[in-house]
Formats: sequence, structure tokens, C-alpha cells
Amino acid sequence: MSTISYRLPQKRALVTELPGPKSTELGIRRRAAVAAGVGSSVPVYAADADGGVIVDVDGNSLIDLGAGIAVTSIGASDPRVAQAVSEQAAHFTHTCFMVTPYESYIRVAEELAALTPGDHEKRTVLFNSGAEAVENAIKVARLATGRMAVVAFDHAYHGRTNLTMALTAKSMPYKTNFGPFAPEVYRMPMSYPFRDEQGLTGEQAARRAITQIEKQIGADSVAAIILEPIQGEGGFIVPAPGFLPTLTAWAREKGVVFIADEVQTGFARTGSWFACDDEQIVPDIITMAKGIAGGLPLSAITGRAELLDAVHPGGLGGTYGGNPIACAAALATIETMRELDLPARARHIGDTATTRLRALAAQVPAIGEVRGRGAMIAIELVRPGTTEPDADLTKAIAAKALEQGVIVLTCGTYGNVIRLLPPLVIDDDLLDDALTVLEQAIRAAAA
Ligand SMILES: *Cc1c(COP(=O)(O)O)cnc(C)c1O
Repeated sequence: MSTISYRLPQKRALVTELPGPKSTELGIRRRAAVAAGVGSSVPVYAADADGGVIVDVDGNSLIDLGAGIAVTSIGASDPRVAQAVSEQAAHFTHTCFMVTPYESYIRVAEELAALTPGDHEKRTVLFNSGAEAVENAIKVARLATGRMAVVAFDHAYHGRTNLTMALTAKSMPYKTNFGPFAPEVYRMPMSYPFRDEQGLTGEQAARRAITQIEKQIGADSVAAIILEPIQGEGGFIVPAPGFLPTLTAWAREKGVVFIADEVQTGFARTGSWFACDDEQIVPDIITMAKGIAGGLPLSAITGRAELLDAVHPGGLGGTYGGNPIACAAALATIETMRELDLPARARHIGDTATTRLRALAAQVPAIGEVRGRGAMIAIELVRPGTTEPDADLTKAIAAKALEQGVIVLTCGTYGNVIRLLPPLVIDDDLLDDALTVLEQAIRAAAA
């Protein structure tokens, strides 16, 4: 494994209260200019970022345990990405792949064919956002099967556009009053070991969903099942072993397209290139975004050639999809991930964090469960002795961690999950410091 070099000091250092005066000033301008519907997790404004730190406009150096929601896995200013972006920008920023195509789009498609699960013949289309990738995966599945129904799961998150709002499970804040939603979307029960009845296996949980699909929709009407192999916004829910393989086997048997939404789990995050690899499942189509391009907007669908090639020319695409600067960034990102062996780094981060957090859980009864895989780690908070969610405690912990200069995100259908998604290039000392702060925040808030 090559060593990682950093541009900014990898340390936590607070020089003002948070938010500092300059962030406060920007907050005032923001409220007068930016729509209230766009939220931010923390009220500090970024000036610089590198490795595991974000330096704010007041000069505070914060530890970043969110990576801009699992995006900057290789850091927010990786030198290879910065160079690839500036070189590409100096030549051409855009021609539109649908007008005058270019090689880097093809190279990204070749890389994705090699990296994604399965050794079947694959085709790729590039887009800009995760939601756009999901929409297009559904378009392909419907056209290729000639069927309409799409199955999504409890706690799912697939985006904020009209079709993806329909697929997303949580009403507030994602759906409330934004309807009507796209039709022919059906929701099925997930496998959520912490909240399922004791002893329900992954296979039984899958059978529960399959029975409902067959009774309520009919297998012959189902174009696709879409599922995050580990659910992200829904609470970092890791389904019981056997859940995914049982569903994929059923889908294959019934001619249903299995779409793995790996927008959050993909690109080394869980300790493999893709979370599907961990259970040796091979999706028919995989959606990717977030970690793919070192922070540049890029998303992709990669899937079986016979599905993707079923679509008529012109049926898929978009003005900016596979923008050449984003493609250059993706190629640099993939190279960096390989060179630094970031899947191994993700496993190392996961081992370090879960060992410490499980020891803490043994002492703090408000921690219902510590779970996750690789560098996708969740702490689910409950009222002691129950499984009743404690969203207020969760908010208080995130606020206390921020006070001490550590950015942590929350998630979950019940808003009661602290989620850790550090940049995979975070250095060990910095991670240790962040975990110490987080442990203190949890002890203090739960006391
Ligand atoms: C973030 C996310 C999306 C949506 O991606 P955007 O780029 O925000 O549109 C879709 N699916 C999953 C699993 C996600 O985590």
C-alpha cells in the first residue's frame, strides 16, 4: 500500500466557537439568497479540505466523518484528480458525448465493466447524479422486460426526482407535499435484523417480501426490484445474510431485473469495490455515483449487455452525462483507489471504529446497535432497554461532536442513527482523535 501524503495538516484545531464570525455572516447572506428548502448538516462554511480535514472560513480545522455523504473517499482535493481536472479543462470542458464523443467516456465504461460484479458482457451509460442513474436503470428494465411494476423496500432511499421520490420510503423531508408520485411502484418489507422479530433469517425475510410481491403484484408484472445492498439514508441497515441472495435468485428465475443501487455503498466504501461482492451476488444493473469521481458530478449504470442494448439509440443520455472533466476525475479516482488499496483501508477503518464503538456500547445502554461494513458504520440510538428510537439524543450527539470540531452525519427512518462515512484516506491518528471526541459526545449526551 502506498503512503498517503497530505497538503493540509491532519489535525483538529479550533480557533473560534462554531460557527465562527465569518460562517455566521455567510449564514445571514445565505438565508437572504438561498431557498430554505436546501438544508445543511453543519453551519460552518468550507474554505479548504484535504484528506480527513475540512478547514472553515474562520480557520478552524474540523475532522470530516461524512466525506460529503460518501463522496470524497479519496479526499476532497486529491492531487491526481486536481491535475486530471485542470488538464482536461484546458483542452475541452464539454462537447456532449451525444454530439462529438471522446475517449475518456469509453475508458470509464471499460473500467466499470471490469470493476462491477460479474464477468458477463456489460454496457454502461453515464449521467450526472445518483437519482438520474436510478431513473435510467428503471427505464432500461421496463423497456427490456415490457413490464411496468417496480419493487422497492422499506427504508429505501433512491433520490429526490419524481420517480425516485416514489421509490424512496421516507415521507419527511423527501416526499411530503411533493406528489403526485410516479405510479407502479410497490414497497415491500426489508430485512432489518435490529428491528425484525428475533431469529428471522435473511432467507425468511426475503420469502416474506417475495410472497407479498407474488400476491400483490404478480411476478409476471414486475420489471425490476431495486435495492441498496446496505441501505444508506434509511439507517445503514445491513440485511441478514441470505436476504440478498434469495431475492436475486428469485428475480433471475422470474425474469425480473435486479437493480443494486450502490450509489452510496460503491467504490471501496464497504471494504470491497461494491457491497454486492461481499455476498457474491451479481446484479443485472448496478447504479453508481457518490464515490465515483472524487467529488465531480458523475453517475453511471452498468448492466447486462442484452438489457442495455435493448434500448433504441437516443433513448438514453443527457446533455452533460459523462462530462469529460467528470470522466477525467473518475479515471484518476479509480487509479488512486487501486494504488492506495482503499478497499483495504475501508476494512481497517471499519475494524478500528467498530472495536471502539462496541466497547462503548457495552457501557452505554442508549446504544442499541453498532453495525455496518467497512467504512460505513452506524450507531443506532434508543431509549435504554428498548428498541424505541431516540432521535433527540442522536441530534444532541452530532451537535456535541461538532462543538469539538468533528463533523458527523445522522440518518435513519426514525432519525436515530449516527453514521460514519470518513474519507478512506483519513489518517489513523486523526481517526482515533475523532472517535475519542465522538465517544465523549455520546457519553455526555446519554448521561
Ligand atoms: C445519494 C443516493 C442517491 C441519490 O443520489 P443523488 O446524486 O443525490 O441524486 C440514490 N441512491 C442512493 C443509495 C443514495 O445514497
